[in-house]
Amino acid sequence: MVTGQNLARSQALYARAKERIPGGVNSPVRAFRGVGLDPLFMERGEGPFIYDVDGNRYIDFVGSWGPLLLGHNHPVIRAAVLAAAEQGLSFGAATEAEVRMAELMTSLVPSLEMVRMVNSGTEATMSALRAARGFTGRDKILKFAGCYHGHSDALLVKAGSGLLSESRPDSAGVSAACAADTLVAPFNDAIRVEELFARHHREIAAVILEPIPANMGVVLPEEGFLAHLRDLCSASGTLLIFDEVITGFRLGLSGAQGRCGVKPDLSAFGKIIGGGMPVGAYGGKREVMELISPLGPVYQAGTLSGNPVAMAAGLAQLEFLASHPEVYNTVDRLGDMLFTGLKDILHRTGASCTVNHIGSMGSLFFTNETVRDLESAKTADTGRYAAYFTYLLRGGIYQAPAQFEALFVSFAHTEALIQQTLESAEDFFRTFC
Ligand SMILES: *Cc1c(COP(=O)(O)O)cnc(C)c1O
Repeated sequence: MVTGQNLARSQALYARAKERIPGGVNSPVRAFRGVGLDPLFMERGEGPFIYDVDGNRYIDFVGSWGPLLLGHNHPVIRAAVLAAAEQGLSFGAATEAEVRMAELMTSLVPSLEMVRMVNSGTEATMSALRAARGFTGRDKILKFAGCYHGHSDALLVKAGSGLLSESRPDSAGVSAACAADTLVAPFNDAIRVEELFARHHREIAAVILEPIPANMGVVLPEEGFLAHLRDLCSASGTLLIFDEVITGFRLGLSGAQGRCGVKPDLSAFGKIIGGGMPVGAYGGKREVMELISPLGPVYQAGTLSGNPVAMAAGLAQLEFLASHPEVYNTVDRLGDMLFTGLKDILHRTGASCTVNHIGSMGSLFFTNETVRDLESAKTADTGRYAAYFTYLLRGGIYQAPAQFEALFVSFAHTEALIQQTLESAEDFFRTFC
């Protein structure tokens, strides 16, 4: 590795890992392939910082890929987890924490009338689709190129994120039959969606999307796009599913849907609602959710779903957010400072890059095109991103090791840390552009 830091322990662990774990990692985005480096092995996180096994400290803008809105190892969440663990790790039976979680989520997100906990974002979107198909009696779904909804078969079609960095947009091992029911439109392309609705009249069970995508880098929905989708779905008996696994409780207590003022029929959550533990959830209209087993014929289950330790972590984080409205003001202000600061640097140095940003998340694309969908995102120069990533990493700043990801600011970041990050970024652009 070329960062100049001592990375001997990471390298030794990677050598061992590669022998027994595919690619040495348990999720491809951790492999650093998108930036041509070897993975770092992490040991500890505290507030805005993450520490690798060689003791290097980084300002962390990954935040475990989104969950850590309050920063690493927040004392309130840690205490809740330790207290829950004292009582036992799993019962496979109903617990009070699940009731409190369902009550809290439905009270904060107006479109949620009922909610079911699962163990990951992948399970949440997969199960929401099954519910939509069960409810409508239709097979087809419509997704958008560059939106990532986890790794279930039907959704691994033109998915973003880790698949983009591997430049392999579709996965081997997904049957043609499975992918055949998945229609794909470019994000922000309402005309294309209208065409697909016309061609597959009353065959589409659900339209699923990240209302504000963050898995082809951050892309913003254009004025009226989400409302237009809402109208098309309502007119055709199609369910609108918002995948808020990243945006839920990051862009406010009612997520992207609250921010955009469009109400989906179903929503998927993950990441922040687990506070760092493996959690997902899906929910929405009562009449749809009442079809889920054991009430109805749509089967969905999970041995560890609603796990008491995971619920304790998620509840602690959500309760903290609900009782500290200043969190959103702070992370949005820090996000504005970081991303408008980057824009200023691009302006000053004449670098041809594009910044997309909302609240505490955003992306710096190495392209001068407006990034509004997957095609424009893919004009980004991933080699230059790799150089930028490596430069900042050497300066103790950890961002997503891939161009097509978001940067996340947490409540633990400070103006001084954002300033330090901007100075490193400016050094990079002055030196290399
Ligand atoms: C991360 C993510 C998922 C998948 O969640 P996992 O917990 O990794 O299975 C789904 N949708 C979106 C928008 C995500 O960002």
